[in-house]
Amino acid sequence: MFLEFKQKIVKDYTFFTSILLMAISLSIYVTSFYMSYKEQLSHIEMLAIEESEDLFYKLNDNGLKNLSIKEELTTEDEGYFARIFVYGFDIRHDVVFEHNTLEWSKSFMEKAISQDLLEYDKVYFKFELVDNRHLKLFTTMRYPLIEQQKFLGEVYVGIEATHWAREQVRIFCYLILFNLLARFFIRYVAYRMANKAMEPVVQSFEQQKQFVANASHELRTPLSIIISGLEVLKLDDDNKLSPFSRDVMGDINDEALRMKKLIDNLLITARNDNKTLKVNKNLFSLNDVLTKLYNKFFLLADRKNIKINLNLIDDISIYADKLHIEQILAILIDNAIKYTAENGRINIKVQKQKQEVIISVIDNGKGISKEDLPHIFERFYRAEKSHTDYGNGLGLSIAKILAEKNNGKITVESEETVGSCFNLILKI
Ligand code: ADP
Repeated sequence: MFLEFKQKIVKDYTFFTSILLMAISLSIYVTSFYMSYKEQLSHIEMLAIEESEDLFYKLNDNGLKNLSIKEELTTEDEGYFARIFVYGFDIRHDVVFEHNTLEWSKSFMEKAISQDLLEYDKVYFKFELVDNRHLKLFTTMRYPLIEQQKFLGEVYVGIEATHWAREQVRIFCYLILFNLLARFFIRYVAYRMANKAMEPVVQSFEQQKQFVANASHELRTPLSIIISGLEVLKLDDDNKLSPFSRDVMGDINDEALRMKKLIDNLLITARNDNKTLKVNKNLFSLNDVLTKLYNKFFLLADRKNIKINLNLIDDISIYADKLHIEQILAILIDNAIKYTAENGRINIKVQKQKQEVIISVIDNGKGISKEDLPHIFERFYRAEKSHTDYGNGLGLSIAKILAEKNNGKITVESEETVGSCFNLILKI
């Protein structure tokens, strides 16, 4: 019970914290990506401005016209120089200077220049697949040289951005990895926290379970003595009890039996919780058990003029805890009588199917509403309309525990005002 609860806390905590962490790291990533993207834009724009200034000087100095840019920029950083390209054109679109060592960018640039593909002042990011293996990226820009509102020429500039793109992908992968690892860590922390938070609850629940188990166990003996004492008094013809006293004694006997039933039920529940419920399996005759129960409940049903119909088939031997099976069927028959109006009918039917035997207790009583049906096997659950009847909501939960302990199960079909059918399914 606590395990399920703990798992839910851990799951929810891990989920929400991971989402939060993911959101935070993603927003940091997006911000840093945006900033470095802006930086890429400003690099290419600066290069374009510098080169357009160069073009201006060259156009105004015929001596320098057609001089290779490399010659002029020999003092520039070689690494940087190898990552950029520039093309300068005059007003007649004659080449003034040209430098491009990025071979893989050339086909696109030549096409873009000859076919006028690029717009002025706009930065383009272009991916190229080199040797069918390496994806490379460059940024490029077309920039006009305008002096005193006169168009004098234009430059095309570009910078390789492969390294930058790879860096971005790498950071993103690290981010995913970090989030995955963080998830494990968060789960571990959540688990530790849930354990710590639930420690006192589990402890007090354990104490409570132990108390219920001890109390019900201790109460059984004095109660059995009271019940057998009452039996002896009832059978003793010599006692001088008045009819009124006999009635009172009868009532005490009934209440003591009710109390015994409740205590027995509490003991089973507590033992099941403590995992100390014992199962003593033996081979026994199903028909014997059903006949015994029929005889036991016949009088009780008769008081409400309810007819119990017992349909037996060829006897089946069952390997299970006989007392448990008796108890389950007693709960189902007792309920059928309890929740069926006077003059009703109860059918007890046995069917054999392959490796299973199905014992059905069918009544034409008040039935169970659709809302109540999923809950009737829960501990202490009682349907709203059953509150007037005697009961404590433990019967079916115990029947379920005992059925499962004996590798069986209980199913139910019910319709309000029509009746119910409870099936105990056991392996044979
Ligand atoms: P209790 O009978 O003590 O209330 P149970 O666990 O045996 O507790 O049953 C739980 C609820 O299921 C009951 O309160 C009742 O509403 C419903 N129930 C069980 N058996 C029947 C039945 N044969 N017909 C109608 N309702 C039933």
